[in-house]
Amino acid sequence: MKLQFKSAPRPEDMASQDWTDWSWQLRRSLKTAEEFQEAFELTEAEREALQKGRDLFRFRTTPYYQSLLTPDPEDPLRRILVPHRDELTPGAQALLDPLGERRNNPAPRIIHRYPDRALFLVTDFCSVYCRYCTRKHFTGQEQAFPKEDDYQQALAYLRSKPGLREVILSGGDPLTLADTQLDRVLGDLRRIEHIEIIRIGSRMPVVCPMRMTDPLVKILKKHKPVFLMTHFNHPREVTSEAAEALERCVDNGVPVFNQMVLLNGVNNHPAVVQALSRRLLFLRVKPYYMFQCDPSEGTDHLRTSVEESMQIQRELWGTLSGLAMPQLSLDIPDGGGKASLVPEFEVSRGEGVRVYEGWDGVRAEYRNPAAEQRRLPRDWESYQAEWDFTKQAKN
Ligand code: SF4
Repeated sequence: MKLQFKSAPRPEDMASQDWTDWSWQLRRSLKTAEEFQEAFELTEAEREALQKGRDLFRFRTTPYYQSLLTPDPEDPLRRILVPHRDELTPGAQALLDPLGERRNNPAPRIIHRYPDRALFLVTDFCSVYCRYCTRKHFTGQEQAFPKEDDYQQALAYLRSKPGLREVILSGGDPLTLADTQLDRVLGDLRRIEHIEIIRIGSRMPVVCPMRMTDPLVKILKKHKPVFLMTHFNHPREVTSEAAEALERCVDNGVPVFNQMVLLNGVNNHPAVVQALSRRLLFLRVKPYYMFQCDPSEGTDHLRTSVEESMQIQRELWGTLSGLAMPQLSLDIPDGGGKASLVPEFEVSRGEGVRVYEGWDGVRAEYRNPAAEQRRLPRDWESYQAEWDFTKQAKN
């Protein structure tokens, strides 16, 4: 069956040249309770959240993303976008900073947790505020691009750590910045000799695919290698506009990976995950991570249990090709780093032998080779200094 991608339903009163202009999409975003009330037929629970939840987390949407929602209060995309009364109740954990980022913040806008990579939060602004956001302690506070002094301090920190190989531009959404600002940031990073890889995490290809213009893609290409990490959560987000945006990146040599979050009532079914993964892979986007939702404030109604997530992953295992299979992963709260969750296939073990049962019930032994066969690669010492340097890069 050939995959088809539907166009977003552009309202008749909106001119095509406006609709396809990303800055118009940002300017015309809904951002007040009154605008949401006018645009959607709200339930009592949604109305209450819009009135009382302002201090908890902002709300905003582009007209494009708004057009993908249906009037059904249980519409999966609506659960991502429209605040709900459930956000106001204290959750089982309700962490303000679930990833413990404030403790790994050595310079303004820099989060340095792992030895060889660091996050650079280049803006706190997003064109859509997702109700499950992990970084509510930072996002949407109207700080936008860093002040010059903070920006220079952030760059100085990145320069001072020669073991840093990768910088991840995050936020907020880095692709809400103007082309000139992005070009400047990417150029400044490229001038740092030891930085090899730049990643950009963005939901713009999902909520405002018209952002992926030819000039922007040209900038990403100019500063290669730049990896784009998108954030599609549901197959309905993969419209023909999104497909075109993704293909423009890949055609121009920008590798694209997708990080989804498993969300209650949104995508917590293997049929939905496979539909999303299949569509993305067809567009040459690698489904990379399937995250357990972080326990940030007001997200309990959107989180799945670990057991449910693992069950979904187990059903996908073996049925979905390895290329389409995202890796289920949980961020250990308080900055414990990522923990990969994989189905348990081992059923028993003995001296030099382990017994496994595969996804469809085939059971077999795996025997280790005799210990005397073991040898290290002859040239391993040529790489040891590089490896030692990587391990202590944060110091
Ligand atoms: S786009 Fe990302 S940073 Fe912005 S609200 Fe959504 S999840 Fe949070």
